[in-house]
Amino acid sequence: LAYCKSLPKAELHAHLNGSVSVRAIEKLIELRKRSEPDYKADDRVLSTAKAQDKIRTLADAFLMFPLIQALTQTSEAVTLATVEVISEFNDDNVKYLELRTTPRENTVTSMSKVDYIEAVLAGIARCSERLPIIVRLLLSIDRRQEVADASETVDLAIEFAKSKNARVVGVELSGDPKFDGRKFLPLFQKAREHGLKIALHLAESCDWMEELSEMLALPPDRIGHGTLLHNDPVHTAVIRENSIPLEICLTSNFICQTTKTFKDSHLDFWFSRKHPVCLCTDDQGVFDTYLSKEFEIASETFNLTKQDLFDTSLCGLRCGFAPKEELYAIERIWALFAKEHA
Ligand code: IMP
Repeated sequence: LAYCKSLPKAELHAHLNGSVSVRAIEKLIELRKRSEPDYKADDRVLSTAKAQDKIRTLADAFLMFPLIQALTQTSEAVTLATVEVISEFNDDNVKYLELRTTPRENTVTSMSKVDYIEAVLAGIARCSERLPIIVRLLLSIDRRQEVADASETVDLAIEFAKSKNARVVGVELSGDPKFDGRKFLPLFQKAREHGLKIALHLAESCDWMEELSEMLALPPDRIGHGTLLHNDPVHTAVIRENSIPLEICLTSNFICQTTKTFKDSHLDFWFSRKHPVCLCTDDQGVFDTYLSKEFEIASETFNLTKQDLFDTSLCGLRCGFAPKEELYAIERIWALFAKEHA
């Protein structure tokens, strides 16, 4: 683990509210109590650290997210959550982080979607001043959303990408995989026309597979999970021809039983074909993991050497959505590490 910890890493698949740790949840409850002294948090929200005991399916994980989102309903709370999450990735020696989150409005607290995004960006700005970590943001479309709602998010992503230090670099599709994502395809086309990158959660469980050919035809710039895609030679061919990187989250897939054991993970299939993959955490709070641990699991399961781990980590950085020249500049950290460990 020491080597995995010391390795500079890039995290490309981290949902903001799913990444909030128990420590951060306690801080969010404290914050809430300042304005509502009688506030009593849902007991289940504090048990996220023991998620492995409670979460057995993706559906179980989806019961956790609203409990955490209930604590991030004001700009102040959203900024606090962002700062806490980034700080924890920084503590794990993550040098480049792409956070993703679904902009939400809240009529009770008068938080608009713009307020939400600005609150996340404020958290990123605060961390950028004091921590050696580069953070970029993807705005998420939730599969359960109406097209109009998602369209608003894409328009905001386009606007924010133009301004605000260009920290918004893309849009992504996530949420309950039972819901068809095809209705959002024109929105992703629009996002791309405006220079945004696109990541799509695809084939993470077998609930909904009919959409795959059309979704892959976009084609996305990265695929979230893609757990079952390698079972189909046509899909595999599209992914390989377009060299679409896969974001693979071993612990998340194992806990949700979308892969039965670590050894069954599709990571092996793509590794053996030298296809670009990035190891990611998905929801490090909910799944009680961190990126070094994901590297260690990969190392133990697939007998990876230190060089393999280094190459995987660098591959992750190269799959990032920040402009190529920025990523090249960040690569210097990896070069320095390689020199020190030669
Ligand atoms: P948020 O977007 O920051 O609120 O993060 C939580 C949201 O991310 C959830 O409500 C889901 O829409 C999405 N999410 C987190 N993990 C997963 C996953 O494994 N599959 C699909 N969607 C996910």
